[in-house]
Amino acid sequence: MSEFATAMRTDLCGTLRASDVGRTVTVCGWVGRRREHGEHLAFLDLRDYSGIIQCVVDGSVDVRSEYVVRVTGTLRNRPEGTTNSDLATGEVELGDCEVEILNVAEPPPFPLNDRVETDEIVRLKYRYVDLRRERMQRNLRVRAAVNKALRGAMERQGFTEVETPMLWTPTPEGAREFVVPSRLQHGSFYVLPQSPQIAKQLLMVGGTDRYYQIARCLRDEDLRADRQFEFMQLDIEASFVSQDDVLGFVSEAVLDAAELVTGERPDPIPHITWEEAQERYGSDKPDLRFGLELAELTPVFVTTEFNAFKAGCIKGIRVPGAAGDFGRNKLDGLTDRAKALGAKGLVWLKVTDDGLDSPVAKFLSDDEVAGLRTTLEAEAGDLLLIVADDDRHLVRTVLGTLRNDLARPPVSQGPYRYAWITEFPLFEGLDDAGNPVSAHHPFTMPHPDDLEKLESEPLSVRSQSYDLVLNGWELGSGSIRIHRSDIQARMFAALGISEEEAAGRFGFLLNAFKYGAPPHGGFAVGLDRLVAILAGEDNIREVIAYPKTQSGLDPLTDAPKPVGDRILADLGIRTLPPQAKG
Ligand code: ASP
Repeated sequence: MSEFATAMRTDLCGTLRASDVGRTVTVCGWVGRRREHGEHLAFLDLRDYSGIIQCVVDGSVDVRSEYVVRVTGTLRNRPEGTTNSDLATGEVELGDCEVEILNVAEPPPFPLNDRVETDEIVRLKYRYVDLRRERMQRNLRVRAAVNKALRGAMERQGFTEVETPMLWTPTPEGAREFVVPSRLQHGSFYVLPQSPQIAKQLLMVGGTDRYYQIARCLRDEDLRADRQFEFMQLDIEASFVSQDDVLGFVSEAVLDAAELVTGERPDPIPHITWEEAQERYGSDKPDLRFGLELAELTPVFVTTEFNAFKAGCIKGIRVPGAAGDFGRNKLDGLTDRAKALGAKGLVWLKVTDDGLDSPVAKFLSDDEVAGLRTTLEAEAGDLLLIVADDDRHLVRTVLGTLRNDLARPPVSQGPYRYAWITEFPLFEGLDDAGNPVSAHHPFTMPHPDDLEKLESEPLSVRSQSYDLVLNGWELGSGSIRIHRSDIQARMFAALGISEEEAAGRFGFLLNAFKYGAPPHGGFAVGLDRLVAILAGEDNIREVIAYPKTQSGLDPLTDAPKPVGDRILADLGIRTLPPQAKG
């Protein structure tokens, strides 16, 4: 009997081994493949979540694909030459089987073979069948293991799990929100939380000290490979901490989870400032699995006669050994891409044994060519790509995007390279009304050295916020928070939020800060993304039991769909006719 024995079975299908030979066992599951063997016998692959066991049954047994059965038999070695080394149970089979049909099944809507590609809408419509596949069962278990490791690490570090409400009020994380009409107060709405941000800060005012929650968050944003309307976060907040304390707590949890799933503990996570990440990788979520770093070329061309290089910022990347792979068409493609990203152009040079092969080579002086080659450590056969502009951010972004286009492997492909990105700017530009826009959220503490510039030069103010990045995906964000109402009031003013508006939207928070808010900070790790990468998947839908399609639909339940007039009347709502599909 195994630890998985129940009243109906003694063992799981996938756990039987040669050491069990001779035992009489009972297993339950779904009928996979059936193969006739001579006139009187048939082989059935019986499947449960743990795997498959081959059962030798009487040919007259009438079971078909996906019937639910209970099989009792004696475990024996497979005859010489018929073992299957691809299968964990490939050395053994169940013989002399008695088969009890527990339930019949219609033929499955698609083959449950991991190697067969099935349309996603069909998979989601019949998700309960899709979930029977080995890959999906494995993914659900990776997810559960990650959850368990994260919880364990937080508990060990003295964090207390607290649940926060789903029916809430707007949370300023910058996304569109889902609203829920109130039946008791017609015309008023709850808002589903984009994150427990405000609730967890209030827990700190409430003396909780170290809070965590595996929290469901909802954001009404366009769906992508790494984004669903609802997603899970390991959400934490702690009092009397520095940024390094928070990064330490989160690193511990994430490295524990990675170790539990992969069997290997990743190296300590390196810290890179936002400025350095932009300079070297042209991105705030750099993929560190490959080189192609951005090199600074501005000093090389300070006295240049070449007009295209008379610019405030010149940077380049070296693509090793790629000169031969890039003919005219591909180079034109890269140039078009750079222009579409906002660059005035893209200069390419191929390094040859005799010098540089490029339409612009003749405009460069010998010193410039030498400086270029040394700075980029260029060797014969390399392709060099250069962007120049007065806008440094644009140069970095264009080259950072080309860097990814040229060399980025699928996100889930190893090795796993984590990075902490610190010192994000407090604001990420101006909105249409000319007000700065929070890069993280309005509760983020400015960098202490930059606080003075909050009013005078807001766009140059750094923040005490940080992201965790894995293989080029943002796994999460956090910050040290503003805990003083005077600084919070200055922050709202800097964002162009009037006192009345701030009082209307966040009065309860500002009020709370008057009653003794401790210094605090926190973080949230996106669970779906972490699990997807650790499970070897490039789309988070593969690690979510019931995801929505790209267009936000649930083919299983047909949600969203209209509700009856009675319900609408109760809620005090009248609907407009459905919008024409554009
Ligand atoms: N609430 C933030 C988010 O969901 C995370 C944090 O600042 O703790 O991104």
